[in-house]
Amino acid sequence: MKNTDKENKDEHSFSKVEIESAKKVLIKMKKDIFKEIDAGIKEGSSKDSTEYRGDNYDIASSERDRELMYMLGDRERKKVKAIDNALLKIKEGTYGVCDECGEPISKKRLKIIPYSNLCINCQSKAEEEERKQLNEDYIDHLNTLSLINDDETFKDSDE
Ligand SMILES: [Zn+2]
Repeated sequence: MKNTDKENKDEHSFSKVEIESAKKVLIKMKKDIFKEIDAGIKEGSSKDSTEYRGDNYDIASSERDRELMYMLGDRERKKVKAIDNALLKIKEGTYGVCDECGEPISKKRLKIIPYSNLCINCQSKAEEEERKQLNEDYIDHLNTLSLINDDETFKDSDE
């Protein structure tokens, strides 16, 4: 396996152009999420929802944004939060730095997920935690079920 990813400083410093394009991508991603929700809300009324403020569309602060946030599913809400965080970091000049450990996030990773605020190590740790939490919740849930249904829920039913 060829590893061309030399972890030198150049690899992690962003040019103005790169930051600008990352910003554009982030804003577009956010708009797309909201557009979808908005379209869902307006279902039935046949109005095109294009009240979005073109390129000036910035960090979620307007009431409308907040309103829409309530309509989002967990996954989307998380994504929007991550996008906002990334946009904030662009403003502060810390884009591409891991929130958790302060190490640079690889550009490769940012290209795929421009809103990632964690480096790959911290991300996998976070996911592990999340999975654990989910498992615990699930086990709690099963325990609750088993209290109601005695042991009937615990048959071998893998598939
Ligand atoms: Zn990290």
